[in-house]
Amino acid sequence: MRDDDGGTLDVTIDHDVCIGAGQCALTAPGVFTQDDDGFGEVLPGRRDGGGDPLVREAARACPVGAVGVRGGRSQGGVSG
Ligand code: SF4
Repeated sequence: MRDDDGGTLDVTIDHDVCIGAGQCALTAPGVFTQDDDGFGEVLPGRRDGGGDPLVREAARACPVGAVGVRGGRSQGGVSG
């Protein structure tokens, strides 16, 4: 069993909900970026979260709950 940190995540941004607050990119710049209009984007190849624990912080930081994080450790309470 190897579920201590390496659980594969599925990180998404709901673009219908995102208001471009940029908190995701500020909180976890290794996973999220902002497009030219300031809306959040998951960096290419980072849909799995890249093992970055800040992904969940970013999901919490998003003021509109547009960041979805599924999978990984079974407590994944944050989803979108
Ligand atoms: S924090 Fe939320 S609202 Fe702000 S850019 Fe990221 S996904 Fe969009």
